[in-house]
Amino acid sequence: MPGFMEIVQIGYPVLRKKASPVAAVESPKIQRFIDDLSRTLMEEKGVGIAAPQVNVSLRLFIIASHPDPRYSDAPEMEPEVIINPEIIAHSQEMVKGWEGCLSIPGIRGLVPRYRSIALRYTKRDGSQDERIFTDFSARICQHEIDHLDGIVYLDRMESPQDIVSDAYYRELPGLDAQGGEQG
Ligand code: ZN
Repeated sequence: MPGFMEIVQIGYPVLRKKASPVAAVESPKIQRFIDDLSRTLMEEKGVGIAAPQVNVSLRLFIIASHPDPRYSDAPEMEPEVIINPEIIAHSQEMVKGWEGCLSIPGIRGLVPRYRSIALRYTKRDGSQDERIFTDFSARICQHEIDHLDGIVYLDRMESPQDIVSDAYYRELPGLDAQGGEQG
């Protein structure tokens, strides 16, 4: 399968390591990696994926938010490549929401996150950008940035009692049947 990269699962040391900044964003090697990571995200039907999840310890992730029955106000956005991100501001308010992770199959957890964040980052063309993310997209960004710091969503949970199985999660009222919102 061209472009398909294997997702590493929890236990692999790369998921617990602080990733290195991307130096040569415009190099063919990094550009090819971004294409491969995008394809992998699409094939896995995730809403986000970070480089360490394919065993590449670089500060780079892709977010692909789209509305679904649970997050009908989630922005429809083209997959966006976010490189060397830095949270420059965040809301005081935190909200709890369900998260899953492609690297932690089979379970979901309730995770508190800032409702909105301001992010400074490099785009795939090498230019700098600043952008505010709110609600669902802010949640994805925080989940993915954590991956760059060796943190997984389980570390952010208030209680292990907030873990449920994928099967149970899909039965929860108001949740979409696909259970696709994993990062
Ligand atoms: Zn994840």
